[in-house]
Amino acid sequence: MHELAIAQSIIEIAEKEAKNHNSSTIKKIKVQIGEFSGVVKEALEFSFEIAKNGTPAENAQLEIEIVKFKAICKTCNFTLEKIDDFNLFCPNCENVLEIISGREMRIEYIEIE
Ligand SMILES: [Zn+2]
Repeated sequence: MHELAIAQSIIEIAEKEAKNHNSSTIKKIKVQIGEFSGVVKEALEFSFEIAKNGTPAENAQLEIEIVKFKAICKTCNFTLEKIDDFNLFCPNCENVLEIISGREMRIEYIEIE
């Protein structure tokens, strides 16, 4: 389950951030996850609950925002927003589509006390 490793690294980053501000309590962590990133929201929430024990994020709340998938054709500007139709090639001109969102996995902000 790679969500556990992700949860642990989110906590590590938050811990460093708290230390930089001379704080030992993390109140909230907001993350953005692309719907095409392969990360399962429920699994990450579950992993976070396990990983935060005994860390400065013990009482922290994890907020997860899902970022919609979007791919664009640089040749004809065709955009694809549904993963269901996902296919690497543009249906109009057959050039390769470029994924512009939906693959991210980042921390938006960390609230410390
Ligand atoms: Zn195209």
